[in-house]
Amino acid sequence: MGVLPGGYWDRAGRLHREFELATLTGREEELLAGAHAAHPAALVTEVLSRCLARLGDISPVPPEVTRQLLVADRQYLLLRLRRATFGDRVAADLVCPWPDCGRRVSIGFSIDGVPVEEARERAPAHTITASDGTEIAFRLPTGADQEELSDHLAVNEAETLTGLLARCVLRIGGQDGPPGREAVAALPVAVRAEVEQAMRERAPSVEQTLEAECPECGRTFLAPFDVHRFFFGELRTDAGALYREVHYLAYHYHWSETEIMAMTRDRRHTYIDVLADAIEVLNGGT
Ligand SMILES: [Zn+2]
Repeated sequence: MGVLPGGYWDRAGRLHREFELATLTGREEELLAGAHAAHPAALVTEVLSRCLARLGDISPVPPEVTRQLLVADRQYLLLRLRRATFGDRVAADLVCPWPDCGRRVSIGFSIDGVPVEEARERAPAHTITASDGTEIAFRLPTGADQEELSDHLAVNEAETLTGLLARCVLRIGGQDGPPGREAVAALPVAVRAEVEQAMRERAPSVEQTLEAECPECGRTFLAPFDVHRFFFGELRTDAGALYREVHYLAYHYHWSETEIMAMTRDRRHTYIDVLADAIEVLNGGT
């Protein structure tokens, strides 16, 4: 069991923070192996929906809910999922950025050690009064925003940020209803910066920079740590290897595909190792 650093507000205005995760199985690996790398946010929504056994009193947790989770809550869940599936220790291969070193090193770190900042103020919507007196209501960015904007990000980052703000700003001044993209784009630069800062301050966050110590030269450096890239890079099995493993276990143990795909990767590999040992003993004995 765990607790989200932010939390999910349902339509009835109730906050859900406690969660239970199941581990990843071959079914999720299959999903990741076949998925399109260009839409990581949609993939996160799907994986979290499959692996979240419970969120508050929501169980099962449908994609419509995991899509509405705050960006940092989704990152936090991916880290917990990684820990539940493969353990807490991570080994990252990095290049030491000190110019007179520059060696390729393997850095170990603990997932529990990744700093997580909880939301300071929890509410489905927030309001600030900008320095020019305008009252602006907004919500915090979610997976739905990432899904919606991921296509545009590669094209134009500034456009994407305006798009994000247009989705998250709920009201400007005394207006009724969402202001729309044009009204948001027309906000004075200073006001816009204030809204963006207020969003950052109110959102929970998962640290995406690691402090590492180079084992070669002994100096420390900061390394970027992209939760999505890390998670999917590590978990992306090629589908061919997965199906060979399933075939191998089915052939020797006569288990069904469904049974084997429901196992975690660790468990599958344990059986494969046991089998390899047994086969070696058999061959050695003849
Ligand atoms: Zn170094």
